[in-house]
Amino acid sequence: MSSLSPSEERAPESPLLLIPGPTPVPRQVLEALARPTVAHNSAAAATDLQALQFGVLHSLGFGQDPAKELPAVLVTAGSGTSAMESALINTVAPGEVVVVVSHGFFGDRFAAIARAHGARVELVSCEWGERVPVAAVERALTQTGARVLTVTHVDTANGVAAPFADYARVARDHDAVLILDAVASLGGMPIDMGGGGIDVVITASQKALAMPPGLAIVVVSARALERRRQLGGPVGYFLDWLHWLAPMTDPTAHYFATLPTNLIAAGAAAMAIAEGEGWPERFARHRQMARATRRGLRAIGLNTVSGDELLGTTVSALAVPKGITPDALRIEVAKAGVAIAVGLGDWSQSAIRIGHMGASSLPELLTGVAALEQSLLRLGAPVERGAGVAELLCGWEAEAVA
Ligand code: PMP
Repeated sequence: MSSLSPSEERAPESPLLLIPGPTPVPRQVLEALARPTVAHNSAAAATDLQALQFGVLHSLGFGQDPAKELPAVLVTAGSGTSAMESALINTVAPGEVVVVVSHGFFGDRFAAIARAHGARVELVSCEWGERVPVAAVERALTQTGARVLTVTHVDTANGVAAPFADYARVARDHDAVLILDAVASLGGMPIDMGGGGIDVVITASQKALAMPPGLAIVVVSARALERRRQLGGPVGYFLDWLHWLAPMTDPTAHYFATLPTNLIAAGAAAMAIAEGEGWPERFARHRQMARATRRGLRAIGLNTVSGDELLGTTVSALAVPKGITPDALRIEVAKAGVAIAVGLGDWSQSAIRIGHMGASSLPELLTGVAALEQSLLRLGAPVERGAGVAELLCGWEAEAVA
């Protein structure tokens, strides 16, 4: 038995999820998921869908001005990767060039999807832990004449946040459509889609929205839709936006493919929680979580690879102390009932990754930092007992939302 017992509600086989997604799912959301299944074309399904769509739009800064044209919110079964593919195939024709701005593993995935689709890829990347300079993005757009660029907001491999608003200004100057991968940020970090000139935002359900995995969400501006229409005939089948526009407006009147109604009901419940908290307050809680967690972990020798000024607030990639492997630490922490992730790609032998997003808050972070502290001690690291938890608490107080 581990000395750190998970909370009473947590069965031993379901550890506290401090991986960067899926994240802990609140009880109300799980209860909504377990409600009897309704017809995909019922009024109940339509109500849930609309609640989920409005929540997503509010998180993206829409909803204050009723005169403003709203983007379409397409919600389908799928994962973040299917949302990425959807964004790409609806805006880029095979043979066309697309600028892929990548600062990590998931940025590179856009390049792989684009190549699989037969597009020509102009990859603009940087060392992991850094950001791609705006000038490099501008140069790529000028040299290629690309009409589309992809940007990963927070790359989950390293936690760095792209300066997407700066890229968007450059994209506008070149009349290019900007696709933003917000899988690891939407719901936890502010994204001003309309004001920022972002044309497509994609996400998935299992991260900062604090829902189970299984929903792919694609938010499509009028400008992006126009680009889709310019491409002409079918661009695929299941992922073709033109099939989804009518059912997403009124699923009681239009069928294209069966909606995952239980997940959408769970989505409506998740949005009720987020709207109850307030989006600005939710973003502030994520800032508080990020700063307090990083402060607590620094006190036990786990430092983020990049400086705070480059990082988002949802994920941290932390270098492990010499002599300890990421996997050994992950296994030791798992014994305390906490799931963390190891680094991706080149960072697999040098870093761990922690998610601090969605419904998590101080209790989850205390458990996580305490488990890491105990595990490091067991693995022989020179850690002062209690230092991580003490610093986490100080950080939490210091960052308290007024
Ligand atoms: N983009 C980012 C930034 C991600 O973090 C992930 C998942 N970790 C994906 C895309 C792919 O999402 P999925 O695993 O749901 O397909």
